[in-house]
Amino acid sequence: MAKVGLREWLAIAPVIASGRLSRYGGSAGSPLNRFESDFSAAFGVQHTLVVSSGTGALIAALAAAGIGPGDEVLVPAYTWIATAAAPLAVGAVPVLVEIDQSLTIDPADILRKITPNTRAIIPVHMANVVCDMDAIMQIARDHNLLVIEDACQAVGLTYKGRKVGTIGDAGAYSFNQFKNINVGEGGAIVTNDDQLFARARMYHDIGAVFRGHLDNANAPLIPGINLKASQIQGAMLNVQLKKLTPMLRRMRQRYEAMADILTSRGGLRLIPQHDPTNAAGLHVVFDTEEEARDFATRNKRGVHRVYDSSRHVYTFWQPILEQRTVHPKLNPYAWAARPMDYSPKACPRSLDILKRTCRITVGENYPLVFMRYMARRMVKDWGMPLAPYTTNPGLT
Ligand SMILES: *Cc1c(COP(=O)(O)O)cnc(C)c1O
Repeated sequence: MAKVGLREWLAIAPVIASGRLSRYGGSAGSPLNRFESDFSAAFGVQHTLVVSSGTGALIAALAAAGIGPGDEVLVPAYTWIATAAAPLAVGAVPVLVEIDQSLTIDPADILRKITPNTRAIIPVHMANVVCDMDAIMQIARDHNLLVIEDACQAVGLTYKGRKVGTIGDAGAYSFNQFKNINVGEGGAIVTNDDQLFARARMYHDIGAVFRGHLDNANAPLIPGINLKASQIQGAMLNVQLKKLTPMLRRMRQRYEAMADILTSRGGLRLIPQHDPTNAAGLHVVFDTEEEARDFATRNKRGVHRVYDSSRHVYTFWQPILEQRTVHPKLNPYAWAARPMDYSPKACPRSLDILKRTCRITVGENYPLVFMRYMARRMVKDWGMPLAPYTTNPGLT
């Protein structure tokens, strides 16, 4: 993540002094408007709409795309729980799809999970690792499905030269504290579809009807909710956007240096990448879950087994597994054409892969030499047996 500091602090001062903190009511050159046009230009997309969170961005994108009761939305078994919760918020149900060894949604399993009720796919670019977008877009075209990219964890990464999030029908980004662009809380929707943008803008702002947007793409009025961001977020976003490219460059340098040490000196195996020239999320895969656990145990700093960050593994998504929603009569599962399977048997391959894979922190804010040192330390004793767990060696 890009650090938040003095420059953000200086950027919010004039906004506070102006007293114009709300989304609308400021000038056309407001910080949020400026960010949206700069972001669109930098990401090569027609429309950007800043919202209050990545979760809100996903929900607004699904609502804008007209997804609702009776619809099935394909989501990967490995993601932040928000990806699975978003379809429920618009009355649709999430259908779990296996990931493959790239840690992203498996196109072959997408094909197996498609039913006549499937309306959309949400591929998730997890932990700065990008999805197999060519295969996903081809499947979507063949089966007339919408693609809403969840690029919350990969803001700024590219797939074959295009920014992830801008390839599907719509994309969702998060700008929360742990993401590549960090303003504490925030998000954005991007799309090249004028209608979808107009509907997302109405959905994210119940007051849209009174704003006099002149470019409403002839989209009929719909009542929305309120997912608006403030100009304080806008001012910080403008600073953070400038930090994004240099930060990704630092991440990429450390990725390359560490990957080289881990593979050539340590004989470790990296996960496959769908765009190797642009990969920034560093993961190693082992043959057995014991090896992965062993590697993570030996390297407490900077390494964790992916399965152990359990909140991203579907078998830990309690409210989803229980298929409970805010009100019993407002339950998308009652409107679905068939029962959903969220049991451990639903995606066994994903669980196996997550238990055999470790994520290595790329530490983009640390010096390159330090990250090289960390990588060398990780492989130094790798392959040697761990010291036996004897508490009193004198007795043997
Ligand atoms: C962070 C995240 C979200 C949601 O973002 P918030 O801004 O926290 O609401 C959605 N999907 C993924 C994959 C995420 O990592």
